[in-house]
Amino acid sequence: MRTQMSEMKEELQGVIKGSVLVADDSGYEEARQVWNAMIDRRPAMIVQCADAHDVVPALAFARRNRLEISVRGGGHNIAGSSLCDHGLTIDFSRMKKVRVDVGKRRAYVEPGATLADLDEVTQAHGLATPVGINSTTGIAGLTLGGGFGWLTRKYGMTIDNLVSVEMVTADGRKLRASATENADLFWAIRGGGGNFGVVTQFEFQLFPVGPEIVAGLLVFPFNQAKQILIKYRQLVNSVPEDLNVWAVLRKAPPLPFLPQTVHGTEVVVLPVFYTGTVAQAEKLIAPIRAFGTVLGEHIGPQPYVQWEKAFDPLLTPGARNYWKSHNFTELADGALDSVIEFAGKLPSPQCEIFIGLIAGAANRVATDAMAYGHRDAKFVLNVHGRWDEAKDDRKCIAWARDFFKASAPYASAGAYVNFMTAEESDRIASAYGANYARLLEVKRKYDPDNVFHLNQNIKP
Ligand SMILES: Cc1cc2nc3c(=O)[nH]c(=O)nc-3n(C[C@H](O)[C@H](O)[C@H](O)COP(=O)(O)OP(=O)(O)OC[C@H]3O[C@@H](n4cnc5c(N)ncnc54)[C@H](O)[C@@H]3O)c2cc1C
Repeated sequence: MRTQMSEMKEELQGVIKGSVLVADDSGYEEARQVWNAMIDRRPAMIVQCADAHDVVPALAFARRNRLEISVRGGGHNIAGSSLCDHGLTIDFSRMKKVRVDVGKRRAYVEPGATLADLDEVTQAHGLATPVGINSTTGIAGLTLGGGFGWLTRKYGMTIDNLVSVEMVTADGRKLRASATENADLFWAIRGGGGNFGVVTQFEFQLFPVGPEIVAGLLVFPFNQAKQILIKYRQLVNSVPEDLNVWAVLRKAPPLPFLPQTVHGTEVVVLPVFYTGTVAQAEKLIAPIRAFGTVLGEHIGPQPYVQWEKAFDPLLTPGARNYWKSHNFTELADGALDSVIEFAGKLPSPQCEIFIGLIAGAANRVATDAMAYGHRDAKFVLNVHGRWDEAKDDRKCIAWARDFFKASAPYASAGAYVNFMTAEESDRIASAYGANYARLLEVKRKYDPDNVFHLNQNIKP
């Protein structure tokens, strides 16, 4: 078995520039780690591509040898779908280059880049495109599932600003997909995840942002949660789209601007983000401050790249994680009550419930413009179960599932595939709603054998 594996490794290594790792190789253990420590998979081979040319031979090799294929961008997916057991992982962790065309306001991004890699290069020119809120997330998986963050109110989802991709399809063809080239494929990959092929380059539209923005946290007592969340849900109707405010209910981390007595107790945190001037920010933030009794505040001008990393310390890799998510067009009283009830019985100090505000530009795109169709969603609610010890799996997972059930009656149809866990395959058709039939058609055209099935799978 071992000899056969080393012969296979030698054969593949002979046709690619990157590295082929098998068990026992130094670097293999590190290469099979992903963000969620609950995932423990052992690919037979991990192909760390040196450039886009490595993809075609790696894919052909895997198909010839009937190896299951997984594709890894930043390795953040909660379901751990970037790794396979006994198969071949196409790993982009060495391909992180980002190039900016300042005149055209475009970024050309390799699929192993993280959000931090993208922001760093684009912000050197005072430009950005909407991405997520944790800088170590991979741009590849985030984009293919949809992508939203602080800039989404103003500029839409990440996919709304995707101009083209270069990719390799299951039959080994290299294609470009855009509004004018292979438009069906371009429609499908914007929300359809990794179902249709391996993306080797993303091209994004950029916008002037920062480099300095105004952002920070307002922290309120948990016993005022209902009044704060009621005012929070009304806020969206009255503030400009360059202001974004999320709501997080969790135990207070030991932040220096909070009194020590607050550390470790349940609080309501409103992270605030604004792309305008400091003076205008103060006018917009003053009424939010009056939502309740502020326990602590830390808001001010800062580089956009710094704010993009603000939540990284709470979202480090290596913890055990289990998530559930709903979309909401409005936050009904019942939804708020269930948020407060379950935030009042967090099963571990790291668990949290957050409400992301995405109302704005993303709602002005037609439902059938691309595979991601939840254009009525104004809020995305995520229950983030997070803990350290396997012995706590059962209670933390049960808490997340119970909350998910309790809040379901108030949610709108559909779900964000990037927040779905592995066992939610029964939710995929409903996650895509009316766009699912067209996704199936495109899947049958480009991947009839379901070569790319380690994802939220659209079964041909
Ligand atoms: C801490 C944390 C914070 C997050 N915050 C946000 C947020 O603010 N906003 C948001 O929208 N999402 C957020 N997410 C969800 C995130 O978008 C998904 O987890 C996404 O899948 C991560 O992409 P990745 O490349 O890191 O994942 P990976 O695990 O590497 O890949 C996920 C899947 O994407 C596909 N894929 C990856 N690369 C390619 C490729 N090159 N070609 C084809 N298919 C590919 C594969 O099917 C793979 O299984 C967050 C996730 C985490 C863990």
